[in-house]
Parts: sequence; structure tokens; C-alpha cells
Amino acid sequence: MGEPIYRRVVVKLSGEYFAGPQSYGIDQPTIDRVAGDLIAARNFGVEIAVVVGGGNIFRGVEVSSRGVSRPTGDTMGMLATVMNCLALGEALRRHGQPARTFSALLMPEVCDLYTRAAALETLAAGGIALLAGGTGNPFFTTDTTAVLRAAEIDAGAVLKATNVDGVYTADPKRDPTAKRFDKLTHSEALAGNYKVMDATAFALARETSLPIIVFSIAEAGSIGAVLGGAGRATVVAG
Ligand code: UDP
Repeated sequence: MGEPIYRRVVVKLSGEYFAGPQSYGIDQPTIDRVAGDLIAARNFGVEIAVVVGGGNIFRGVEVSSRGVSRPTGDTMGMLATVMNCLALGEALRRHGQPARTFSALLMPEVCDLYTRAAALETLAAGGIALLAGGTGNPFFTTDTTAVLRAAEIDAGAVLKATNVDGVYTADPKRDPTAKRFDKLTHSEALAGNYKVMDATAFALARETSLPIIVFSIAEAGSIGAVLGGAGRATVVAG
């Protein structure tokens, strides 16, 4: 596999993926597999920070219609991302990879508070930094968090893991006429309103000139393949 195309990246993993074949919760074999992929990517010489979603446990918007305020619901969602990072951190360490969980919300008994300096220290020491708690603010998503953190820590790209191999005009699992893009500009991604990431995330990526690489996590080794420039993906840049 030659040289990696980026030296430092933020990998965005959806919470939904953590549920594996179930529709809810944490599927250990799935987490172990993704831990293996992250370690392979790290061993390829790339500094890896990971932002994990919480959709396998909780999404604020889902409860806000049932009497819980949106900010409270979103706080519950952010706590779900912490649980996912704790599970992933255990899996990484069990496989011999140092990893540290940082939360945007202060919870000293649980994990460290996210600071840019502490995350960079972990990366420089060869650890994987798990960035939990989203941005720490309601009304945002973990996609936006991934772009924000990538800009903060000077990452070369956000690797957005999905269940399809790139950006399509529609969901290819439902619409056989959906067209796939090899590349797109941020403005095209925003204008097309493709469902792969929210508009805030794309707008921030455009503002910070940050490439977003959209790829499928379904095949083992896909993170390393994308980093080697060989993986099938849509590149959103420019
Ligand atoms: N969330 C939030 N602020 C953030 C990031 C996340 O309030 O900065 C909450 C929000 O309720 C969201 C939930 O955490 O629905 C889980 O994140 P997300 O939906 O992005 O997870 P994914 O879809 O990637 O599993």
C-alpha cells in the first residue's frame, strides 16, 4: 500500500453502525472489527481522531416531539456518543492500541475533557483520540463535530464512513436510478441537498477548505484503502 494520502484525519463513524445487525445498542463484533480497521490505519502511519455518533442509542430530535425539550434530548444524544466512545476505546486498548476518550462535556469521572492541545498530544504519542460529546451544544450533529474538530486539529480530511460507497443523488438501496459521484465540490454537495451529511457540516467544511471523503465501512479494511488512495469513495472538496 504506498504512502498514505493524509497524515492526520478525523474518522466519523455513525452510531447506527455500532448497532451492527440490531437496530439498537452496541454490537461487540462490529466494534471489534472497526477497531481493527482503525488500528490498521494508524499502523499505516496516519494520526487518527474519531468522532462517533449516538444514533444507535439516542437522537435528541426523536424525543423532542414527545415532551422532552430539544436541548435536553440533544444532551441525551451527546451522552450516547460518550457511551459509544467508551466501548470503542475499550476495544482499541484490548487490541493493544492506546486510545483516549475526550468529551466536549465535563465528566471527570468518566473521561478527559476535550481540549485541542490534549487531543494533539494523544495523536503525537501514537494514540487514537476518541472525541465524544459532539460539539457540547444542542442543535448540532456529530457530522458537524467531525468537521469542526478536523479544522481545529489541522486534519487533512474527514473520512465519513457510511453504509454506501459514496454520495448518490438518492438512496441507492431504494432508488435503482440513483447516480453516484466520484467527486463533488462543497457547494455542489450543499446545493444538491444530498442526505450524506447535514448542511452545517458541509458549510463549515467549505469555509475551512476541508475535504470530506465519503466511503463505505461495510468492507473490512476500507479506512486503510481510502487512506492509500485506492478505496472507492466520493471526494467532496474545492
Ligand atoms: N448531538 C448534539 N450536539 C452535537 C452532536 C450531537 O446535540 O454537537 C446530539 C443530537 O441529539 C444527535 C445525537 O447527539 O441526534 C447523536 O448524534 P448524531 O445524530 O450526529 O449521531 P449519528 O447519526 O452519527 O449516529
